[in-house]
Amino acid sequence: MPFSHLGLSAKVLTAIEAAGYKTPTPIQAQAIPHVLARRDVLGIAQTGTGKTAAFVLPMLTMLEQGRARARMPRTLILEPTRELAAQVAEQFEKYGKNSKLNVALLIGGVSFGDQDSKLLRGVDVLIATPGRLLDHSERGRLLLSGCELLIIDEADRMLDMGFIPDIERIGKLVPFTRQTLFFTATMPPEIQRIADTFLHNPVRVEVSRPATAATTITQLQVSTGRDPAEKRETLRRLLRSADNFKNAIIFCNRKREVALLHRSLVRHKFNAVALHGDLDQPARMAALDAFRKGEATLLIASDVAARGLDIPDVSHIFNFDVPHHPDDYVHRIGRTGRAGKSGTAITIVAPADGKAVAAIEKLTGQPIPAMAAAAPREPQENHAPAYGERSERHHRGERQPQRRPSVADAQRTPAPRPRPARELVTEDADGSHLPAFLLRPVRLKA
Ligand code: AMP
Repeated sequence: MPFSHLGLSAKVLTAIEAAGYKTPTPIQAQAIPHVLARRDVLGIAQTGTGKTAAFVLPMLTMLEQGRARARMPRTLILEPTRELAAQVAEQFEKYGKNSKLNVALLIGGVSFGDQDSKLLRGVDVLIATPGRLLDHSERGRLLLSGCELLIIDEADRMLDMGFIPDIERIGKLVPFTRQTLFFTATMPPEIQRIADTFLHNPVRVEVSRPATAATTITQLQVSTGRDPAEKRETLRRLLRSADNFKNAIIFCNRKREVALLHRSLVRHKFNAVALHGDLDQPARMAALDAFRKGEATLLIASDVAARGLDIPDVSHIFNFDVPHHPDDYVHRIGRTGRAGKSGTAITIVAPADGKAVAAIEKLTGQPIPAMAAAAPREPQENHAPAYGERSERHHRGERQPQRRPSVADAQRTPAPRPRPARELVTEDADGSHLPAFLLRPVRLKA
C-alpha cells in the first residue's frame, strides 16, 4: 500500500517524499489509519521498524487543525531516555518542515528556563522523559488538561528503568478522553497490565523484527587480573588484535568507569567517545553523532546510557565489566550481529566475576568460550595504528604510510586465537530489545 492511501495530509506526503521513503513499513501501514481514526493503538514493535514515523506522521496530519495554548500542550510523547526523546524531536523537524508546529523537549540536562519559556508560548508537541515532565508539572509550569493525545513509547524500557510509577502519575494528569498510543517491543505481564489501564478498546498492531536472517554472535571471554589498569591493558590488546573490526561499543557497569576508561583510551590515542549520565545533553548528542557517522570507532557506555538508542550495527562488543544482571549481557551483545551480519562479543573477566559469568551462561544456556591468551605485553611505540586508534599522523592530518611488518612486529603479534568453540545463533535480528526471559531458544553451531 502506498503512503497516499493511509489518509495523511498533502503536506505530510510531500515531507515523506522529500525524505525519500517510497513505501510505508508494516507498522506504519497498519497503525497510521487507526491513529488518524482516533483509535487507541497498542503497537508491538521495536526500534528499526519505522515505529517513530508511525506516530509522528499521523500526528503532524492531525495537528494541522487547531492551535496550542500557553502552558497546555496539545500532545505528549513520553520517552525513557533523553536521547530517544531527542531522536523523536528530530523526526518532527524532518517531517514537519512545512507545518510550523511548536515542538518542545523536556529532558534533563537542558535549562529549566528555556524549557519554561517554550511552554509559555504554547506547544503542539511535548516530548519528555517522565521525571523532567513531573518536575515541571509539580512547579505548576505545565497543565496537561488540554492534552488530546498521549504516546507512551518504549514502554518495556520504561519498566526496566523503574519509570512505571511516574507514568501512572502522568496518566492521571491527562484527560480521560484523550487518545493513547502505546508502543513496546515486548509484552511481559506488567506491561500488559499498564496497557490495559491506559488504553480504551485499542487496536493491536504487531510487527515482526526488522530482519529475519539468522544472526550470529561469537561470544568469547578473556581472563584478567582485578586491577583496573590491567583490565584496561587487556582491553587495548584486544582492540589491537580484533578480527574484522569496524567499530565497537565498550560497556562498563558504572558511569565513573566509563569516564575513566574514556580518558585512558583517548590518552592511548584510540578514537573513542563516551556516553554516561553525567555528561550534559550537547556532549551526549555530540558523542552519539560522532559514533553514528563513523568519526569515532569506539563508544564507551553504561547500560542505562545506551538503553533504547538507535545505534547502527557494530562489529564488536566489549564488556569491560561483566554486567551484574545477566539480562544486561543479552541486551549488550544484541547490539552486534544485527540483520544477518556476524558480530563478536568479548567479555573481560576478573577473578571476582565468576558468579556473574555463571549466571549469564545459565540464562543463555550457552557457555562463553575462553579466548586464547593474547600477547603478554602491549606494544609501547612505533606500532601500526590499530582499529579504533588514531595515529599521530592522523592527528596532524597526514596520510598513513604503508609499513612492512618487522620481526619486532611478529614478536608483538598476539598468539593466534583458536576459532571459538561454538557460536550463539539466534533467530532474532536484534537481541538488544529482547528481555532475557523472552530470548528465543538458541541453536548451537559446531
Ligand atoms: P524507527 O524504528 O522509528 O527507529 O526507524 C528506523 C529508521 O527507519 C529511521 O532511521 C527512519 O528514518 C527509517 N524509516 C522510517 N520509515 C521508513 C520508511 N517508510 N521507509 C524507509 N525508511 C524508513
